[in-house]
Amino acid sequence: MKYISTRGLAPSLSFEEVVLTGLASDGGLYVPETLPQFSREEIASWVGLSYQELAFKIIAPFVAGEIADADLQTLIDKSYQSFRHPAIAPLVQTDHNEWVLELFQGPTLAFKDFALQFLGNLLDFILAKRQQKVVVMGATSGDTGSAAIEGCRHCDNIDIFILHPYQRVSEVQRRQMTTVLDDNVFNIALEGNFDDCQNMVKASFADQSFLPDGRQLVAVNSINFARIMVQIVYYFYAALALGGPARAISFSVPTGNFGDIFAGYLAKRMGLPIDQLIVATNQNDILHRCISANDHSKRPLVHSLSPSMDIMVSSNFERLLFDLHGRNGEAIRDLMESFKGGAMPLSAEVMAKLQAEFASYRLDDEETISVIAEVFDKTEYLLDPHTAIGVQAARKTRRDKTTPVVCLATAHPAKFPEAVTKACAVATPALPHHMADLFEREERYQVLANDMAGVHSYMAAQIKS
Ligand SMILES: *Cc1c(COP(=O)(O)O)cnc(C)c1O
Repeated sequence: MKYISTRGLAPSLSFEEVVLTGLASDGGLYVPETLPQFSREEIASWVGLSYQELAFKIIAPFVAGEIADADLQTLIDKSYQSFRHPAIAPLVQTDHNEWVLELFQGPTLAFKDFALQFLGNLLDFILAKRQQKVVVMGATSGDTGSAAIEGCRHCDNIDIFILHPYQRVSEVQRRQMTTVLDDNVFNIALEGNFDDCQNMVKASFADQSFLPDGRQLVAVNSINFARIMVQIVYYFYAALALGGPARAISFSVPTGNFGDIFAGYLAKRMGLPIDQLIVATNQNDILHRCISANDHSKRPLVHSLSPSMDIMVSSNFERLLFDLHGRNGEAIRDLMESFKGGAMPLSAEVMAKLQAEFASYRLDDEETISVIAEVFDKTEYLLDPHTAIGVQAARKTRRDKTTPVVCLATAHPAKFPEAVTKACAVATPALPHHMADLFEREERYQVLANDMAGVHSYMAAQIKS
């Protein structure tokens, strides 16, 4: 399969090239040239497959001609071995026709493990074949960094450098990164804020001359299409468990960068009957404003109780806009140019398509806490603050209570104890037993000044030949 850029000027690439490339040379994001299509009959024949077997069916067409079937199944099996629950993505019922899909059973307790466990193995497989080594570099304010480190720690052909803002991530999140002691893992605590970290990473991708000969940087954020592809699987898995494809299912998704819900949109395009797709946001609500009122304008970032959704502009939204504009790269270039001025009004035709595909809702911290309390009160089930936003968005925007709604649970409540404790003083969420000693483990990280030359010389010195 070929992959093309949303801005229409970069060369089309193979799957393996896309995985190694990140952002397209024209500034766009790569998407498949055509989407795999599955008939109702074919989807129905998958009832009862294990998560790993189903993942194979869905991913295979995206990598056709590049990764052999047996290799793909091995990569998938390896990637989900580290999950604690045998169902990989278990469903829990929280109300009549309302379900939570627990996507936090992976090693770092957030849904990002689904994609990053696979991406680490996939990269290592591709690199071994090419006899190539790369450097993964990323900035994190929390979840992405730990999931990327867990995904890459066992990879022979990868050195991974993750920058976090010194003394500005929670202790659980820091320790999930810094207690990984494998010798290809490097945590940099940068004396600055998250934006400084991100700017450092962006500038490093733009000029990679500090790397030893033959090395290149690889991005593992959700501009990497492989991450989106892997997330399509759990939409099918949940729908099949709840009576799909014979009936349509709705999904509510706590949204930041629009990666996770975009995977749901692709599942629908590929043939899965989905009724509503609900975009759930916190106070950083650019997507809710866009969908409900055609207001896609930048506002200052607000720090919320759901920090993994504290995002000013959602990068993957461009992938959707590309579809809504008839896959016209020129239209996307024009839009992005106008967005540099701070806003991006959409045409009436595009707005109609957008509203036909998505509902949206926005919660502030107060409402988030009261949802956690209310659900705990009625069911003794503890939601993390991100998941709570998805649950409430579902309750507020569902048009049809006879259609099952699945709320994606993107993190384990023990990862965000502050919000959960605020909501229910009685219930302090405990870390799962494999992490119970997290606070006793040895940590390793390097504090560095916010200085490009210093960071680059540190990195160059750590990379092994
Ligand atoms: C990353 C993250 C999100 C947002 O996902 P996107 O794909 O960026 O929309 C939501 N919840 C949690 C816990 C996350 O880590």
